[in-house]
Amino acid sequence: MKNNAKYDYLIVGAGLYGAVFAHEASKHNNKCLVVDKRPHLGGNTYCEDINGINVHKYGAHIFHTNDKTIWEYVNSFVPFNRYTNSPLANFEGKLYNLPFNMNTFYQLWGTKTPEEAKAVLNKQTLKYKDINPSNLEEQALKLVGDDIYTKLIKGYTEKQWGRKASELPAFIIKRLPLRFTYDNNYFNDKYQGIPIGGYNKLIHGLLKNVECRTNVDYFKEKSALTNLAEQTVFTGKIDEYFDYCHGKLEYRSLDFEHEILDTPNYQGNAVINYTESKIPYTRIIEHKHFEFGKQETTVITKEYPLEASSEKEPYYPVNDAKNTALLKAYQEMAKKETTIFGGRLAEYKYYDMHQVIGAALSKTKKLFS
Ligand code: FAD
Ligand code: UDP
Repeated sequence: MKNNAKYDYLIVGAGLYGAVFAHEASKHNNKCLVVDKRPHLGGNTYCEDINGINVHKYGAHIFHTNDKTIWEYVNSFVPFNRYTNSPLANFEGKLYNLPFNMNTFYQLWGTKTPEEAKAVLNKQTLKYKDINPSNLEEQALKLVGDDIYTKLIKGYTEKQWGRKASELPAFIIKRLPLRFTYDNNYFNDKYQGIPIGGYNKLIHGLLKNVECRTNVDYFKEKSALTNLAEQTVFTGKIDEYFDYCHGKLEYRSLDFEHEILDTPNYQGNAVINYTESKIPYTRIIEHKHFEFGKQETTVITKEYPLEASSEKEPYYPVNDAKNTALLKAYQEMAKKETTIFGGRLAEYKYYDMHQVIGAALSKTKKLFS
């Protein structure tokens, strides 16, 4: 027990991991303090209201899960709408449906039945059939063959990650479904939607009875903050926590270029990907379509990928061999700490929202039940 501890938990980071942890800990009569260095709560799910449109300030966020408990959990704070993500891909001016499905195959090859589409796909993947994929490129070629890889994967992937597809882990491409039905739903999960009124409602619901301080960087007042609570929950970068003593973990970042346009409907869809390497952005988001907005104007965002640095936010962990080895060294150090490490940055995991919520719920269940 610490002498002057006013709180049971100091939670560093007001993203979904921190918010779910704080909510559950408070429910079990623990006094929590949440701090975040940003000027707002919500981490990467934060939305800003521009002309009545909830603008996803840190990139498009679509909630999806197969887990009924997690779906009911989030809906207990705010009801979700029936939005279904059906992005399109623009390659050299032509549009293709995503994920890879019968519509995409028709647009690429004119095939109309699953049998016809499978025949083309089998022909294109035949030469890769004996490969045991060790990277994204091999995995993609084995799954979908040359045409789809060249037009819809290679350019997007290499600009998104700033690395050759042959240097990236195979699991990244397994996020995308491949199906032989005319179904443009980007996810296979049972439940999907956007919180009605935006993600801030979810975060404010979770943190309603919790003391929160924004514009507070943990590292600028580490010992004072740490002394305030019996235990720390850290959701920032694990390498930064240990002062980069083994070196820096690499992250991909994004520059978001937001534009307000004087038109009610710019692109007719929330997400359009630009899959050729020549175009410097990966996608254009038109935010109003997440909530079926009828406003007179619209807000669009172009996402330009780049390497994270001290000025650029770390968004995507680069889970390649080099970074995985570095992560292990930090995880060994973390084992010796009383601090709890959780979330996308502290675990260095390509977590989706439902997975972060699941991780925080399972941690708090272990601690409090
Ligand atoms: P974060 O949301 O990153 O929160 C961490 C918080 O810690 C931040 O607010 C940060 O400011 C704070 N922090 C860090 N260091 C310090 C410090 N030293 N002091 C104080 N505070 C600190 N998931 C989906 O399910 N669907 C999607 O469509 C989707 N789209 C995405 C698009 C993009 C561009 C990105 C980047 C992610 C997307 N995700 C999506 C993933 C989703 O954002 C994460 O799973 C989730 O937000 C992670 O929550 P978290 O609490 O771990 O991290
Ligand atoms: N991807 C692609 N073409 C696309 C969309 C995605 O090649 O049009 C690949 C790319 O490597 C990307 C990965 O699939 O990083 C995962 O895509 P997802 O849409 O899940 O990325 P996120 O929403 O997490 O940025």
